[in-house]
Amino acid sequence: MENCIFCKIANGEIPSATLYEDGDFRVILDLGPASKGHALILPKAHAANIYELPDELAGKAMVLAKKMAGKITEALKCDGFNIVQNNGQTAGQTVFHFHMHLIPRYEGDSVGLTWTPGELTDEVREEILSKVSQ
Ligand code: AMP
Ligand code: ZN
Repeated sequence: MENCIFCKIANGEIPSATLYEDGDFRVILDLGPASKGHALILPKAHAANIYELPDELAGKAMVLAKKMAGKITEALKCDGFNIVQNNGQTAGQTVFHFHMHLIPRYEGDSVGLTWTPGELTDEVREEILSKVSQ
């Protein structure tokens, strides 16, 4: 897609710090890392978000995330690992080309990925079950 920065990075038109590349994906270091080793999985084919991502690439992306998590954890000796994927501005997406964040976590770091737990009421549970479950 024209004028998509992640299309250009994924396809090598713009140089990046590349940790891994295959026919479908490039894994790069995030330019504004949340922690040491924060990386992004970028599919080479444009999909704006998870809704547009073909099933085959979705499956491969998760397998690659697992592989990279192991590799990064071993290399950087992090203490934990978050995999984050934002869809839509409301959810924090700023680049509208699907990507998965690989975020190594270190004891005492200040990466903020937590929320205050709410309450699942009977009414809301039943509403969601009636609308979403099969
Ligand atoms: P999101 O907010 O989920 O859309 O994440 C976008 C991520 O892309 C942020 O973590 C940015 O730091 C990162 N980012 C934006 N532009 C670049 C770039 N040119 N190279 C590497 N990472 C980038
Ligand atoms: Zn793109």
